[in-house]
Amino acid sequence: MKNALVTGGSGGIGAAICRRLAADGCHVYIHAHRGLQAAQTLAVAICAGGGSAQALAFDVTDSAAAADVLTPLVEHQPIQILVNNAGIHDDAVFPGMRAEQWHRVIDVSVNGFFNVTQPLMMPMIRSRWGRIINVSSIAALTGNAGQVNYSAAKGALNSATKSLAREIASRGITVNAVAPGIIDTPMSESAFDAREIARLVPMKRAGSPAEVADLIGFLASAQAAYITGQIISINGGMI
Ligand code: NDP
Repeated sequence: MKNALVTGGSGGIGAAICRRLAADGCHVYIHAHRGLQAAQTLAVAICAGGGSAQALAFDVTDSAAAADVLTPLVEHQPIQILVNNAGIHDDAVFPGMRAEQWHRVIDVSVNGFFNVTQPLMMPMIRSRWGRIINVSSIAALTGNAGQVNYSAAKGALNSATKSLAREIASRGITVNAVAPGIIDTPMSESAFDAREIARLVPMKRAGSPAEVADLIGFLASAQAAYITGQIISINGGMI
């Protein structure tokens, strides 16, 4: 049984990814920050359904906290599937953006990627098999007014994806990013109403977390062995 870690597993998209990876036979570490209770409830539900999961919590911006939790976890068995899904947005038009809005959004996505991925790297490399999937955003591909910080953070994640993919391709490890458009979670509810979604999305609906999780489940599978360094958008035709 492969071990998988999903950061932000307590959130809307993360929870669906955890369910999907558990259904595919992984032991899933469901990561949370403030929402440990939600991650624990999900772990209980997955286990009740015959899957294998456990919850854990740390702030991905805190490198020491991440290492304290992750290093002992991979001492005996590597985490071979990592989904860097934790992310926040804090929108503001650029002239009015406060420095802390800029830094915090980048801290969670970019430094969070480093703090979580780096401690898992050597055990994964030694196992000669791995899947790293970074949850990016369409905002990094098309840009989005009011999201200069978020686009910059997700754009950096896309670039890190490509470089790391090149670095470890020969070790049997793939690194890809999934860039969702508008997905039906509390994060998007606060940003888009139904009319706005119908205007922006050719399919005239938001995507579901399960649709994103299905793509990630495929990228995490053995069948996706030759896909690496890609930014794959899932967006209902927003292009
Ligand atoms: P949610 O707000 O539901 O979930 C966000 C998750 O990130 C939560 O589990 C939260 O943990 C975790 N998180 C936030 N800050 C930290 C931190 N400092 N340390 C550790 N974990 C943290 O959002 P979604 O499920 O909608 O989003 C998931 C990902 O998908 C994000 O990266 C987002 O940018 C991306 N995305 C979402 C889209 C959408 O339309 N929903 C579109 C495009 C991309 P906790 O709650 O436990 O504190």
